[in-house]
Amino acid sequence: MLTYSELIELRDKLASGEIELEFAQAQYWKDFKEGQKSWHTKDWKERRSKIIKDKCEICNSKDKLTLQHRSHPGKYSEYLRDITRAYAEEYINCSPDIDKYEFSNYVLNKYDYLPVPLCPNCKNSNPNKRVRKIPQYHCTACRHEFDEAIYRSAGELISIFHENEDAIEVRDKCFVSKDQWRNIHNLSNIKYWHQRERAKNKDAETIGKEAFLLYLNDSIKYLSFDDTITACKKCAFNFDINKMELCPKCKQYYKGLQYPTCIQCLPEEKRKAALESIEFGKKWREMHRQLGID
Ligand SMILES: [Zn+2]
Ligand SMILES: [Zn+2]
Ligand SMILES: [Zn+2]
Repeated sequence: MLTYSELIELRDKLASGEIELEFAQAQYWKDFKEGQKSWHTKDWKERRSKIIKDKCEICNSKDKLTLQHRSHPGKYSEYLRDITRAYAEEYINCSPDIDKYEFSNYVLNKYDYLPVPLCPNCKNSNPNKRVRKIPQYHCTACRHEFDEAIYRSAGELISIFHENEDAIEVRDKCFVSKDQWRNIHNLSNIKYWHQRERAKNKDAETIGKEAFLLYLNDSIKYLSFDDTITACKKCAFNFDINKMELCPKCKQYYKGLQYPTCIQCLPEEKRKAALESIEFGKKWREMHRQLGID
């Protein structure tokens, strides 16, 4: 695992173009084990010991101190997904048209087509299928009754789509992706993914580099301890699990992170209202419990 200063060097070399993305990623992931925590490294422990204060910055306690991060870096795949999406949107805005032949191949190669039954009279989709009655189909739109529904071929749908992307005939999600996800799409959805893939292939290197630099920056920020506070075990627990911190006014009671002070320190009127609403909440939950709703 790279040390803090090695990581900064790697980031700078990649940003300046001194090294290629592939090389940078190989360096970064060389002995990176999934789930390995950066605080297991010697480098981390040494720098941490210089930064951690000798008392809790929230309550001044000196008991069992930890260094709390206020933010955590995401995974590389999350940065990559966001950047890809942004590039795809720009690509789609700049070149909204698709090549008919290429799109048609894309649909037929990547998706299974599950045709929707249509009324042979009015071409309304999904007529009622009756179990006991004959003829088995009944069209709710034109009231026609029939034994055999008609179907459009995938090619027909694609042609209609090229004429008018919002046509009623092409709105059904009747295509299932052949990959492991088995996504159910209509032609508009497929067009989006097709263009997103094109954007991704066209700018793969740029997208990868941009995403990896963001990821490195956030990892560096995390390792820098910039956004940390020293907290005792009790305050750390309240902060992490209960999203609460010590009230800055009385420094005695805890308060939700979103509130300026604890309930006790609110001005008289607001305190009454807050206490009443807590009381109301308790009664409400009690009532639900008795009724067996909860
Ligand atoms: Zn504390
Ligand atoms: Zn009909
Ligand atoms: Zn208070």
